[in-house]
Amino acid sequence: MGVFDAIGLDTHEEVHFGYDPVSGLRSIIAIHSTALGPALGGTRFFAYPDEHAALVDVLRLSKGMSYKSAAAGLDLGGGKAVIIGDPKAIKTERLLRAYGNVIETLGGRYITAEDVGTTTADMAMIRRQTRWVAGLPREEDGSGDPSPATARGVVASMRAVAERLWGSDDLSGRTIAVQGVGKVGADLVARLTGLGTNVVATDINQAALDAVAMDHGAKIVGLDDIYDVESDIFAPCALGASLNRQTIPRLRCAAVVGSANNQLAKEEDADRLVARGILYAPDFVVNSGGIIDVHYGLDGYRPDAAGAAIDRIKAAVSGILDRAERRGINPHLAAEEVAEERIASVGPLRLRRG
Ligand code: NAD
Repeated sequence: MGVFDAIGLDTHEEVHFGYDPVSGLRSIIAIHSTALGPALGGTRFFAYPDEHAALVDVLRLSKGMSYKSAAAGLDLGGGKAVIIGDPKAIKTERLLRAYGNVIETLGGRYITAEDVGTTTADMAMIRRQTRWVAGLPREEDGSGDPSPATARGVVASMRAVAERLWGSDDLSGRTIAVQGVGKVGADLVARLTGLGTNVVATDINQAALDAVAMDHGAKIVGLDDIYDVESDIFAPCALGASLNRQTIPRLRCAAVVGSANNQLAKEEDADRLVARGILYAPDFVVNSGGIIDVHYGLDGYRPDAAGAAIDRIKAAVSGILDRAERRGINPHLAAEEVAEERIASVGPLRLRRG
């Protein structure tokens, strides 16, 4: 597929290619929608196999951000950026600052933040060239690493599911299987065990596993065994596509609630979960705590307001599960409907200042 066909597929508003031969910067910024506000989304710094793979990824991720922010009730559109290359090999001050200049030329239509391969310190560097940066370090009055906020939102979502399935949002005594104990997963394990939940965990990183076992008493299982664990909730917190035609038949849980992006390998996997009687809380709503936190850090961080907004994810998940039941559709489609309706309804009212 050619570049323009790829861009036209999901009606993206703009796509920008940035290039700085001195530093080796090759970036693509995709603005999917500014209907609700400036397009906010992180910059992924990754050694893509080729430029087309990078383009496909940034288009897909930016569309996802439109839905995530819309469903979270934020006045933000959807955007995302990728920088092509191995950050360990090519990330320099020159490259980050050249990238900052590219963002500056967009005049605030795109606001960046950290993602895979970028850090809050990188955001501080980019900020020296452009003010259109979020997720700055806490010491610079920013919201810092969004992972704890994301984990807080996952717990709020689990409470919504618990209330629906078991009549109480108390998670104590429940067993939760956590796949991936990185930045979000480890924080989630700490929160859950603090609530009296039994946690079973897996990861490819033995040191991360040792830490959650030692610090929080999590039981450890093998990488592939996590799908067979008898649990109340399965929490995918590693990579995408862990819910697929091979894994769904194996699951022995009542619900799936996790932070990973794009958990469903294919859209129809949401129907597979319904057919198995497993309640699925849509990933882009469950993991919206991070973007909500970043939003509250745009203009001087307000942690209390952010925390209260993140806890409202519980009500958002309940509303989506109600809609799915009422409409006889799967929860993933119900969440997309909520986002699309909000964009269609509120988008035309957006005030474009300056
Ligand atoms: P991370 O890289 O810190 O953690 C991911 C963990 O998964 C790592 O410990 C890694 O070793 C492990 N892992 C990788 N492959 C695995 C496998 N096959 N089986 C088990 N474990 C495996 O990333 P993170 O920031 O914690 O994010 C986790 C997920 O949540 C990602 O999908 C991310 O896109 C999503 N997410 C994160 C945030 C955030 O605020 N950090 C916000 C929204 C969504």
